[in-house]
Amino acid sequence: MRIGFVGLGNMGAPMARNLAAAGHAVAGFDPVAPAPDGVAMAASAPGAAAGAEVVITMLPDGDILRAVACEVLPAMGPGAVLLDCSTVDVEAARSVAEAALAAGIAAVDAPVSGGVGGAQAGSLTFMVGGSEAAFARVLPLLDVMGARAVHCGEAGAGQAAKICNNMILGITMLGTCEAFALADRLGLSRAALFDVVSTSSGQSWSMTTYCPAPGVGPSSPADNGYRPGFAAELMLKDLRLSQQAAEATGSLTPMGARAAALYAAFVEEEGGRGRDFSAVLPWLSAQERGGTGKS
Ligand code: NAD
Repeated sequence: MRIGFVGLGNMGAPMARNLAAAGHAVAGFDPVAPAPDGVAMAASAPGAAAGAEVVITMLPDGDILRAVACEVLPAMGPGAVLLDCSTVDVEAARSVAEAALAAGIAAVDAPVSGGVGGAQAGSLTFMVGGSEAAFARVLPLLDVMGARAVHCGEAGAGQAAKICNNMILGITMLGTCEAFALADRLGLSRAALFDVVSTSSGQSWSMTTYCPAPGVGPSSPADNGYRPGFAAELMLKDLRLSQQAAEATGSLTPMGARAAALYAAFVEEEGGRGRDFSAVLPWLSAQERGGTGKS
């Protein structure tokens, strides 16, 4: 397939490289990033999009996605598909899909889970919004870049699934970190807490697969000095998107709101930027109740 790929950063570069390695003709554009192996760089986003059957975007946020969509849609032929894999607000995904439809182009929102490691290994999970027909068109590409693609519904449904999932993840990670910090002061070993919780009703992915305590459970960023993994600022971005969606829909999400506030304090005031999101554990452990007031 002829593919245009716009946004070749930490995630986009390995995704584009995997598509090229699978035999697709990939034309890329990024104002800063160098060419990934096998990708022919264009001078502009419309240059990468011209003549492409599918244009993939992997961009930082919804405003940039809207701007890039305005540039690339006129360069795309009728029948082409715009496949956005960025994590953006549901509203941006839906408005880009509307603009695409008006130009005779199908749009698919397909945010990912799996991080840079998943992008490199081609083992991402895609949460997909868009028509059945558009999903079928892009599925062969999703199969190259990932291990699983779940069609969640119409335009915006992929972004909706992503922010709901990551709201649960932020909340369970904070709860798991709090439990370890409490256990320490109760004289309960972290290994014992892991053994109990990982097979009891408090278990979650945050405990069993991504345990925030170093030396406990399977290998995780905690065992690597809390190098990301999934950076705390990206968790903050996703929690803010879920709060934006909660406000827009009038949904009550008090735990999501608290999680967003805690990650904001951790990232913006407590040195969490650039650390894995599970590094909340050493941060909480170091504090006394009534200390900073932020926790
Ligand atoms: P990144 O900042 O490394 O890459 C974004 C790229 O977009 C950059 O290279 C930038 O130069 C480019 N860009 C910015 N404006 C542009 C424009 N107008 N035209 C063309 N290119 C432009 O970010 P990333 O880590 O690759 O993340 C990309 C998206 O994937 C984000 O939405 C992020 O939330 C999501 N995501 C990231 C991870 C992760 O672990 N990094 C995991 C899941 C989802």
